Amino acid sequence: MSEVPGGFKNEAYTDFAVPENRKAMEAALAAVRAQFGREYELLIAGSRLKTEEKFRSLNPSRPSEVIGVHQKATPELAGMAVDAAYSFFPEWSGTPAARRVEMLLTAADLLRRRKLEFDAWLVFEAGKTWPEAEADVAEAIDFCEYYARQMLRFAAPAPVVQLPGESTRMVYLPLGAGIIIPPWNFPLAILVGMTTAALVAGNTVVIKPSSDTPTIAAKFAGLLLEAGFPDRSFCFLTGSGAAVGDVLVEHPKTRFVSFTGSRDVGLRINELAAKPQKGQVWIKRVVAEMGGKDAIIVDEEADLDSAVDGVLASAFGYQGQKCSACSRAIVSEKLYDEFLERLTAKVEKLKVGPADEPDNYMGPVINQRAKESILSYIEKGKQEGRLVAGGESPPGEGYFIRPTVIAGVESKATIFQEEIFGPVLAVTRAKDFDHALELANDSEYGLTGAVYTRNPEKIEKARDRFFVGNLYINRKCTGAMVGAHPFGGFNMSGTDSKAGGPDYLLQFLQAKSIAEKQI
Ligand code: NAD
Repeated sequence: MSEVPGGFKNEAYTDFAVPENRKAMEAALAAVRAQFGREYELLIAGSRLKTEEKFRSLNPSRPSEVIGVHQKATPELAGMAVDAAYSFFPEWSGTPAARRVEMLLTAADLLRRRKLEFDAWLVFEAGKTWPEAEADVAEAIDFCEYYARQMLRFAAPAPVVQLPGESTRMVYLPLGAGIIIPPWNFPLAILVGMTTAALVAGNTVVIKPSSDTPTIAAKFAGLLLEAGFPDRSFCFLTGSGAAVGDVLVEHPKTRFVSFTGSRDVGLRINELAAKPQKGQVWIKRVVAEMGGKDAIIVDEEADLDSAVDGVLASAFGYQGQKCSACSRAIVSEKLYDEFLERLTAKVEKLKVGPADEPDNYMGPVINQRAKESILSYIEKGKQEGRLVAGGESPPGEGYFIRPTVIAGVESKATIFQEEIFGPVLAVTRAKDFDHALELANDSEYGLTGAVYTRNPEKIEKARDRFFVGNLYINRKCTGAMVGAHPFGGFNMSGTDSKAGGPDYLLQFLQAKSIAEKQI
């Protein structure tokens, strides 16, 4: 593994147990609340634009509160955005890498100074509790700092063999104009990581944020301009993914698509991008990071307390709406009953309620559609296993669902196989460690996984045979740290691009070899 040039340290989390920090966060929430309902514009070719049709983003804790009013881009505007990004590419790619790096470090600095403000937007628009929002913003800062340093590596020629009588070198060039399509679940961190990696590498981009979290994206677009990124280096385009997605992906001037989201949308993008369009002179590159059905194995030789805590945090942190969330606990039959008893005792104590109230461990799920889909999986789960905790939606305006545990789930069950993306955990009994590994790998996905055991031979076996992009031993399966845990999964979890890792920028670069004969 290569060194990170210039040193890199993960951003420290604000400790909200400290009274001054708590007060500062309350002030940030009030300041952000005062901006509810404002309108945000598109940015295309350096111009701010409004459309006739608008849409609103809501507070999932109190859906009667409108967070932001946004423009509904049309397919024509989407096409214009790609043209605009394409036409600025020569200028932006010609900007010295050192200058682009400087802008990105300025963006990191601005984000750091406005951390609590961004935390507050995440609390209100994405329904993240304070610590979850803080982790999202800290990760966004980490991406900026990390990719800025990585770009310095790729800006220098790569070492190649020198032949006698020839001078040889290999340099990295950016690709062109790309489309950035992030999900709503890490509406800052993933958006920032995908966008800044492409930009710092010298590409221009069209950012198409999720319609659930467009205000957070608009705030970051504003911050990029403040940091000195030219207003033509990126376009900001809100609107329905279904309405403008195809135009963006199919456009002949689109050189790459960087997507993070669900399996079905990712596969569709991959398919559309593969078909060459009239006037297109390249094969489009697709980076697609998709879903997960992540398992934690609890072996009979595990430290049971830490296994219970690890499963709890991985399954119910941010209401189970992380691609890395544990949705399957595969537990040795030797301690299955005890595990279940200890887990459910803790689950029943978890407080669910509005994300801005810091006593709540869990906030709402993202929207009404998600709530209905999760509740229907719970109904299915009740037939496929035994409901031992949760299962219902508490009364109230927000999209709340109690943390739910369904035991005795077989591997062929729908809730064992399909990504639910909510606070629902299936618990399955394993005969022995080999059986546990077999069950864990019985999935079309392969994103994260964890194993709790004290036995070194079993750890070795898991290292070899647990087929996931991010494996954790004796710790939870969520919370990947930039630089330390390069992130991305196998199989239907995506292209394993390893966000926050030393190879990530290569997705946005192409290498050119130059050999000069000495005369
Ligand atoms: P989604 O697929 O519904 O949407 C993702 C993005 O695609 C959004 O911006 C959406 O507007 C856009 N989109 C929708 N239809 C489109 C189309 N036809 N063409 C182009 N764009 C379109 O996913 P989501 O609900 O926002 O996010 C949750 C999913 O993301 C889960 O499956 C989760 O596992 C996955 N995820 C994966 C990772 C990872 O690193 N592997 C990280 C976070 C989330």
